[in-house]
Formats: sequence, structure tokens, C-alpha cells
Amino acid sequence: MSTPENPDIELHIRGIVQGVGFRPFVYRLAQAFSLTGGVLNNTDGVVIQLFSPGDKLADFILALRSQAPVMAQISTIEQRPCQGANDTSFTILESKVGLGLNAIIPPDTSVCPDCLREFLDPNDRRYHYPFINCTNCGPRWTIISDIPYDRPNTSMHQFKMCDTCLAEYQNPTSRRFHAEPNACADCGPHLSWHKSDGTHIPVADPAAQAATALQEGKIIAIRGLGGFHLAVDAHNGPAVAELRRRKGRPSKPLAVMTADTKTMLHYCHISPEEEKFIISPARPIVLLRKKDGTALATNLAPQIGELGFMLPYTPLHYLLFTHPNTPRALVMTSGNMSHAPICTQNDEALINLANLADFFLLHDRNIITRADDSVARYTDGSYRLLRRSRGYVPQAINLPHHRPEVIACGAELKSTFCLTKGHNAFLSQHIGTLTNAAVLDFYSETILHMKKLLHITPVATVCDLHPDYLSSRYAQSLGLPIIKVQHHHAHAAAVMAEHKLTKCLAVVMDGTGWGVDNTSWGGEILLADLKNYKRLGHLQTIPMPGGDRTAWEGWRLGLTAAWLTGTQRRDLPQPLQEIPLAKQQIINDMLSKKINCPLTSSTGRLFNTVSSILGVRQVSEYEGQAAMELESLAGQAINGHPIDYWLKKDLYLPVSIEKKQTILSIPMLQKMLKLSYNNSPAHLALQFHLWLCHSVATLIKHINPPTDLPLVLAGGCMQNHLLLKGLSTLLKQQNFIIYSGEQIPVNDGGLALGQAVIGGGLYVSGRTHAGH
Ligand code: ZN
Ligand code: ZN
Ligand code: FE
Repeated sequence: MSTPENPDIELHIRGIVQGVGFRPFVYRLAQAFSLTGGVLNNTDGVVIQLFSPGDKLADFILALRSQAPVMAQISTIEQRPCQGANDTSFTILESKVGLGLNAIIPPDTSVCPDCLREFLDPNDRRYHYPFINCTNCGPRWTIISDIPYDRPNTSMHQFKMCDTCLAEYQNPTSRRFHAEPNACADCGPHLSWHKSDGTHIPVADPAAQAATALQEGKIIAIRGLGGFHLAVDAHNGPAVAELRRRKGRPSKPLAVMTADTKTMLHYCHISPEEEKFIISPARPIVLLRKKDGTALATNLAPQIGELGFMLPYTPLHYLLFTHPNTPRALVMTSGNMSHAPICTQNDEALINLANLADFFLLHDRNIITRADDSVARYTDGSYRLLRRSRGYVPQAINLPHHRPEVIACGAELKSTFCLTKGHNAFLSQHIGTLTNAAVLDFYSETILHMKKLLHITPVATVCDLHPDYLSSRYAQSLGLPIIKVQHHHAHAAAVMAEHKLTKCLAVVMDGTGWGVDNTSWGGEILLADLKNYKRLGHLQTIPMPGGDRTAWEGWRLGLTAAWLTGTQRRDLPQPLQEIPLAKQQIINDMLSKKINCPLTSSTGRLFNTVSSILGVRQVSEYEGQAAMELESLAGQAINGHPIDYWLKKDLYLPVSIEKKQTILSIPMLQKMLKLSYNNSPAHLALQFHLWLCHSVATLIKHINPPTDLPLVLAGGCMQNHLLLKGLSTLLKQQNFIIYSGEQIPVNDGGLALGQAVIGGGLYVSGRTHAGH
């Protein structure tokens, strides 16, 4: 019996603690501490009962936190006295519920070291089995169709475990105890090899066929974890060009997979910080600085100094690389036509990718939920996700405030949505650009799926002020109270939510977003909290002849700069002179007659303008291309010096602030047009970045806010390494503490989180708009 001095204790653990091998871990830990009692899953997480733990308790809790399984994420441990804990042994109690209603589903995780060891061991029964997994690794989010998280509610339901697998599944000391996707070659999923017309080619080793085909420069559609990849030899320029032609993707960067970081080092620079994330269980694509003169094809990321790399994350990827014929670096790009969601189903892929792939490497484990590869970059001392998807979703973001259950619908580009419940926000995986029907279907299906799995019934909808976004229209269709949130306020709030801030001074540099003064915004300095904001400063507004088309057709803005500065046709820099006269005339007419020339303070459009003047890019294929290329070009002028060095040098371009509120861009453009004659584009690209950093820092000096306010850097332009690093350097000198997106993308992919925290707060106080 326990005594009043040394009572039995119950620990209630919340977070990602189910479906991740947590109970066997607790069992082993209790053995190590010679504690008796038991462990079980309940609807909220895991409950541990300990018989009179006494002074072992503190160390036990410490070990729970520090030694938890890789996929586990403990958010809280609550401790209360209880009675009647088992005093003779420690037992794993079979729970009636599978994954509890409030328990959190884990994300998909790359194959763990233990499984990889077995996979490579010729004596192991799962040697080279491409679906090996255990409670520490493998598919989760992408295979769950319903809760509780039990095998019948996953896409593994069609495979009946063999006796050996079942014994592992039922053995509390096994790494595969309750590993729902547990399987082996005798009882689990298998690969198959198909021609481009879908015909099945019966072969003993489909992966070996794929290896040989890849070596021959063929394009292979490979069914993966969250969807299909298109794979091709990354050294083979013509094969890469053919993939680009078939996919309708002339220049957008393609990601590359290598077997290990040692191979990766042949192609790019990897810092120790970057390596940490490359090898992390989420296995994102990490943007790395390319090395010169490598064997990689030159058309993987033309005009960009970086290339996305990732390591294998499924046993199938490892299987491919075990084959000697497989090229040492593979392009692994999403298996879709441009702008469509990635394919997940075999029959769907065989139709949609028939004209893209020469062969198909398929398997028969269904993908329930689509998840693209995540993309990350190490910038300004932190690891930052640019696209949060596979490996991260549906991890909860812990909020500083309790929020009602709401759904925030996001924006239009890089769409995601966000659901809230209690202290948690659940940001969806990357959905894509919400402009076509297939992406909209993916969006609405994922909303239903996530609401079901997380048991969330929203009481209100939050959306952008922009009435024409399909996400805003979707919000209208839900028939719930609607709260509208200004785009850049939401950007600031996303960073605030991630860092648990409640108030900040925000520098939001972005593409365009609906403002509240009939102009579109995107270069904003806001004083913001989680309900209200005040616009303290912004970039000078410039007209956009053709509206949003200017985001893709930068030449319109290059000509606008010439018009705004009164530059004569004969004085135009060469890149603008090359634009046909008829087009020049049309833009001049639109500007002088104010026809379809909405005004914007967008930073993104200023990047387009400068890219056009410097001849970097007149027409973009993908969002942000001109800005990325301008950043890469500026990187060439950096000449090995850190940005701090350049920030101390004299500026070529004039910083001018009007009425302590507006950064004047036109004088800068005027000087840029003049300088473009006898200065290298790379040098001017760098000067533009420096000008922008200095202008923002100077404006903030004029505004003179209290420096104890946290300073938030948000918006899509903060993906720009030079801008982020330059701004944070200058603003730290003004004694601000700087925050930007890390786990949550600073671009529109993180916007829904900001909408959700603002919207939830406003809903509680009965309001539908933020004050400003
Ligand atoms: Zn494993
Ligand atoms: Zn089996
Ligand atoms: Fe945005």
C-alpha cells in the first residue's frame, strides 16, 4: 500500500504521445527506475500510474522529457495523487480508445536508424523491404483516414499482418508494438513496374528496373509517401530539359536527392547548422549554396545561386540508391502538371502523368492525404521553413492564448488553412495556388479531413479582406460568422503567434495584399497586437499598369519607373529599350490616362521593377522568380564579405523619408536608371538591397517607437536572405529584439495562422474587423 507521505502518483501527458511508441518507452523507463504501476492511452494522451514513486519521481519526469521517442512531442505533464497503482510490476494497459479525441496525430517521419540498419542487413527478414517501419518512424498523417488511430483506420487496413508481424505488434517490448503500418515482404505492400501507358511489366525487382531506366536518362514517376515524384538523373542536362518541357516548367528550380550528405557535398556547401536539418527526421528540402563546376546539370536552378537538396526519407528511396545503376543525384520533383496538386492515386497518376513519365514505379499502400515535400533554408542564425508540409503537418502550434474553434482560410498563393482548438493551432500542409478547380478540391477535402481527425467544429470563419480570393469565397460559403483580417496584419500575427508575442512593431515586406485605403499594400510598418494594428509607415505607392499582371510581367513596372521619373525613351537602359515600342506606348498611355493602374506600396513589386531595369527578368514563370534572381545576382557582388560590411559602406542610392511615414522609392529608381549605364547589374542589385534595409531602418528611427517592443520581420520578401539579415543587423543596432518566421513560413503559407489567432480573439470580443 502507498502511504500518505509517499502516495501513488498519476502523470497525465499531452502532446504527440500516441502512435509513436510512447507506452513501450514508459515501460522500459519504469523498469530502469525500478518503478511499478502502469501506462495507458486515454482520450487526451497518455496516463502513467506510479506506485509510491517518492523521490524517484522528479528524475523519472526529467527522463520522460529528455529521452522520449523521436516522434513524440510532450506539450504538458500534469501530476496528481491517485490510489491503487499496481505495486508488483509495471504493465502496459490495453486502452479501449486508439488515438484519443484530443490526442495529436504525428507527422510522417523518415525511416529511423534502427529500421535502416535492419533494411541493410542481409540477414534481417526485412532486408531491402521498401516499406519497413516501426513506432519511431514511417508514415502517419498521410495514411490515416479516421480516428482512433488503429490499423483499420489507415490505408494499411487491406494488409493482414502475418504471424511474425502480429507477434511484434502485440509485444510491449518490441519496437513495433502497436506500430500500425507494421508489415513485411510476406504480408505488406509491394512495388510494381509499369510502362507509360500503364501496362504492368512483371519483374522480380522493380527498383532495379527503375535504377537502370534512370541511368539511361528516362523520366520515372515514383509513388512516394505523400504523393508522386518525377525522378530523373540530375547530371543529365538533356533529360532534365525534357522533364521541364513535358511538365511545362521551363525554369522553376528542381530539387535534388542524394543518398547521403557526403555525396551532397560534391555539389553544394553544407554548414554544420544546415546539416542538422538535412538529416532531421522530417527530411525537408534544404536550400544550399551550389558549388561551381560540379557534374550537376546546369538547368536545375538557372539564375539562382542555391539549389534544394534532400536526403532519402522512405525505405524505397534507400532501395533505389542501393542499386549501382542509380545516378548519385536524382531530380525529385512533384509528380504533377504545373499548378495542379501532386498525384497520389495509381490510376490518377497513370492518366495524368502518362505524358510526363517514361515508366512508373508504383506501390499498393494507398496515400490518404497528400503532402508535398517541405522546403527550408538556414538564414540569419535560424532554420526557417519556406514550405511547411510533409514531416511537420499536423504538428500543433502552441498558442499563448486560448482560442475558440475557428477556421482561417488563408490567402491565394501558397495556400494553407488553419484550425484552432484550445491552446493549439493546426496549420494545414501546403495546398498550392488556389486558382484552379483541382487545387480548390484538394483544399476543401483537406479541410473536411482535418476537421474530422482533430474533432474540430468551427464556430467562425476568418478570411482575407480580398473579396476575390477563392479562399475568401470559400469562407463565405461556410455560412458561419465571418471575420476579415488585413493581409499584412495577419503576416505579423503569424510571427507573433509562433514566438508567443502579444504586441509588436512589424516590418511586413510582401507581395500585394488588400489594404484599407483603396491601394494594395506590401511594404508596411505596423504597430500590431493580436486584435488591432496601426499603419505607421510604408513604401511610396506606385501605379501598376495591368494590376496583378505586373507580378508576372515586370517589364510593365520597369517602364513605369521610367515614366514616373520622366526618363526619355533615348535615355532608357538597354533592357527597357529592348521592349517593343508598341508595348512602351501602351504602358505610357495607361499611366498617363490612369487606366487600370491601381496603386501599391508592395515591396515585391519594387523587386519586379528593379529586376526589369537591370535586365534580370521581364517575365516570370513562377511567383517570386524576379526577386529570387535579383537576390542571387546581388549575392555575386557580395564578394565574400558579410552583409554588415556592405551596410557600413556609402550608399549609391538616396534614402529619403517623407513626413516620417513614407519611404520614397521614386528618387531611388531615378538614380538606379542613371547608374545602370556604367555599373554592373550585380552591384546595383546589391545596392538596391542595401537601400531597402537602410530606408526601413531610417524610417523606424523617425517613427521612434519604444525599443522594448519586439520587432517582427514578416511577409514573403523576408525569405530573401540579404534583406532579412541586413534588416535584422541594422535594427539590432537600434536595440530591438528581432523575430521572424522559423517553424512557420513568413510567406503566405503561414498567413492562415495569423488570421486564426486574430480572428479567434476578435470573435470572442464580438467583432468582425480589426481596428486600425
Ligand atoms: Zn523505424
Ligand atoms: Zn509480415
Ligand atoms: Fe502575403
